Amino acid sequence: MLDNILEIKDLTISFDGFKAVNGLNTSVKKGDIHFFIGPNGAGKTTLLDAICGRVKPAEGCIMFNSLSDVTRMSEHQIVELGIGRKFQVPSVFMGITIYENMELAAVKKRSLYSSLFTKLNKEQIERIEDVLRTIGLYEKRYRTPSALSHGEKQWLEIGMLLVQQPEIMLLDEPVAGMGRKETERTGELLREISEKCSVIVVEHDMEFVRECADRVTVLHEGMLLDEGNMQDVQKNPKVIEVYLGR
Ligand code: ADP
Repeated sequence: MLDNILEIKDLTISFDGFKAVNGLNTSVKKGDIHFFIGPNGAGKTTLLDAICGRVKPAEGCIMFNSLSDVTRMSEHQIVELGIGRKFQVPSVFMGITIYENMELAAVKKRSLYSSLFTKLNKEQIERIEDVLRTIGLYEKRYRTPSALSHGEKQWLEIGMLLVQQPEIMLLDEPVAGMGRKETERTGELLREISEKCSVIVVEHDMEFVRECADRVTVLHEGMLLDEGNMQDVQKNPKVIEVYLGR
């Protein structure tokens, strides 16, 4: 299906014979904010790891844009293809400015030294400034990230992904540790981002999921328990029993 940015087919991921993801079939629509929810150990993080090439499945495949099977690709190839991942643990450099962090991300270089001495072209500079405005950090761009609140640091990381113009962004609990206001702002930010880029989120904050989700997939013991819009999914007795009712 052309309107699917990602198709996951019969995916099984094993660790020493234990199936963390077990015969999963699902898809993510282009431009959607798609949440994966479920109890601890359901296989959500393992699934993100498989999409970005960190773990290799035992069976099945993950098709990107109906064309590329990413399951056999390296992490680097998958980033190049347009799939960006933000981890829970912050990965910004604290000793350089917010702007320099964005420069580093924009040139996608692994070495901090070489990135800081790579001259950016006009288009890259405009893109950085654009993203800084989108994430609300333009005014603070010459400060170091240590001056930022927890939420702002998360937005900077999202910005560092965005500047690489991915087609899919994978976010692992982006609002963990945020207050309500920052959580709401993050929701607005994801909505804005989803105009250009599909967003896949693993999340436990159900209020945030209700506010933001276009579609929700519930995982339980590595398998699909339910899928659809949050209004319907949250009424499913099985979903209430294994997750929402706890
Ligand atoms: P979730 O993100 O939904 O909490 P995970 O994907 O982290 O779940 O884990 C799913 C299951 O796979 C858990 O039982 C976990 O212990 C197991 N698991 C995850 N990663 C590994 C690993 N590297 N080695 C062995 N078992 C793992």
